Amino acid sequence: MSERTQITLRIEGMTCDGCARHVTEALKAVAGVVEAQVPGWHSGHATVIAETSVTDEALMNAVREAGYRALVRERRPLEGERRAPKSEGADYDLMIIGGGSAAFAAAIKGAELGATVAIVEGDTIGGTCVNIGCVPSKTLIKAAELCYRAAYPKFEGLTACPPPSDWQRVVQQKDELVAALRQGKYVNVMEVYPNITLIRGWARLIGARRVTVNGTTYTPGKILIATGSRPWAPPIPGLQEAGYLDSTEALSLPALPQSLLVIGAGAIGLELGQLFSRFGVRVMVLEGGPHVAGGEEPEIGAALTRYLEGEKMRVCTDVRIHRVERTQGEYRVQAEIDGRAELCAAERLLVATGRRPHTGELGLETAGVQVGSRGEILVNEHLRTANPDIYAAGDCLGDPMYVYVAAYAGGLAAENALTGAGRIYDLAALPHVIFTDPQVASVGLSERHAREQGLKAKTAVLQLKDVPRALAARDTRGLIKLVAEETTGRLVGAHVLADAAGEVIQEATLAIRFGLMITDIVETFHPYLTMVEGLKLAALTFERDVSKLSCCAT
Ligand SMILES: Cc1cc2nc3c(=O)[nH]c(=O)nc-3n(C[C@H](O)[C@H](O)[C@H](O)COP(=O)(O)OP(=O)(O)OC[C@H]3O[C@@H](n4cnc5c(N)ncnc54)[C@H](O)[C@@H]3O)c2cc1C
Repeated sequence: MSERTQITLRIEGMTCDGCARHVTEALKAVAGVVEAQVPGWHSGHATVIAETSVTDEALMNAVREAGYRALVRERRPLEGERRAPKSEGADYDLMIIGGGSAAFAAAIKGAELGATVAIVEGDTIGGTCVNIGCVPSKTLIKAAELCYRAAYPKFEGLTACPPPSDWQRVVQQKDELVAALRQGKYVNVMEVYPNITLIRGWARLIGARRVTVNGTTYTPGKILIATGSRPWAPPIPGLQEAGYLDSTEALSLPALPQSLLVIGAGAIGLELGQLFSRFGVRVMVLEGGPHVAGGEEPEIGAALTRYLEGEKMRVCTDVRIHRVERTQGEYRVQAEIDGRAELCAAERLLVATGRRPHTGELGLETAGVQVGSRGEILVNEHLRTANPDIYAAGDCLGDPMYVYVAAYAGGLAAENALTGAGRIYDLAALPHVIFTDPQVASVGLSERHAREQGLKAKTAVLQLKDVPRALAARDTRGLIKLVAEETTGRLVGAHVLADAAGEVIQEATLAIRFGLMITDIVETFHPYLTMVEGLKLAALTFERDVSKLSCCAT
């Protein structure tokens, strides 16, 4: 049998079911086409399975002759042709330890490749993102923002804290959303793939290719470790004895405290600190580094600190913490702030000093899997561990810990493990977002990193007061900083502090990924009165003073 390909086409001009039928028939009539499908006219696309010799032109011409427009979007070897070989004598072709985002991406990829897959989950299906991470935190952040904006329609220059709102109700709504998404995006998804089995229990490796769960031993063909991460706290004297909140507990507090101390001003500390402050809690943030959001450009950390302080949060950097105690119903932190000893007290203490891979009790040594100093699983560029039958993906690899990275890694690791595809784990042009208000979003190199890498870098900084969208929205908090290679003008870094920075960063991500120049951004249309127009204005700032340009500057 000759080789076959799956081809996806975008179809324009279909307006009814009859159109979908005409397009399907036109495609089926092309010599070498085995199967053609239009999943409803409003889908706007068609999928074709054809001999590899069938050309894009033949398919597009056939659609054109039927009265529609077509463009080939993707050609890939037919999944069925790339089926994972069966693992002789194995319980499952692939056993995945962990049931979070990396695991689900891996399981779906495995199932699509025709493999039998088992997911082993010891806790709640769905893992961190949907249950205790992205989803609950972002829904509470949005609720806090709405409550805050309602209290302060003109919130620049505010003077007092907003009144406490109905926290329990907000938490209940958050729990309802989490439950619905867990059901819709994880539990129900499993039902679509009959060759994925869920095994409930904690898994442990007991040999090179042997896993035990609840006393049963399995010998899968390949193993994928996707055990995620857990909150980590530094060894501060008294901290363990005093007890503290981590992000999971903070997101489900039964009642709002009067006051909250937050140790750590990374993404989670800042997001949760501002969230509670906006619900009327007196918040103080203690950060050991020189500025908040430590991985970001210093200008962004400094500006964000000003905005948070404008909301009556107290934000301290370069803090040394000597001891934590819990006495008389409050937490007391002995610290050195600005070179002076200070006793900070609050009703609750949140420790947000990062997360570490959850790999301690897995029996990795028995399987010959190596870990780094923070417990992160060591892998090669194909995500294979030192044991050729064991792969790893997601937070258990260590930083960067984002759900979209975990999902990408899971799919890639499963494909490599099952088919030997040799796909390379590539995190170039990886954007990230801190969901404060305003948001922080970055991609590529900072000014310092560019110079450390030996690049001759030039930078441009645009304040949001020069972005029409920010003026119209009466929210000029923020800035955009671009880093470009001096000699070529190639964009190598973009750093945004703005309302909707998380959306704006995506244009810069594409620009960096595809090696675009500052001039490419300047010469591309950007709709007037959008925040992303700020990116174009920042690009113009390399050559001109945009504050002296007219609106719609080109
Ligand atoms: C508060 C918070 C907010 C976040 N916000 C964002 C955000 O906005 N955007 C973003 O991209 N990322 C965010 N993240 C990070 C994101 O949630 C994680 O990067 C992602 O969920 C990791 O997925 P994973 O599959 O690697 O691990 P997880 O989802 O943690 O899954 C691992 C699973 O493995 C299970 N497990 C562990 N050991 C075993 C074992 N031995 N046997 C059986 N099961 C086991 C665990 O119970 C867990 O369910 C946030 C994280 C937190 C904590």
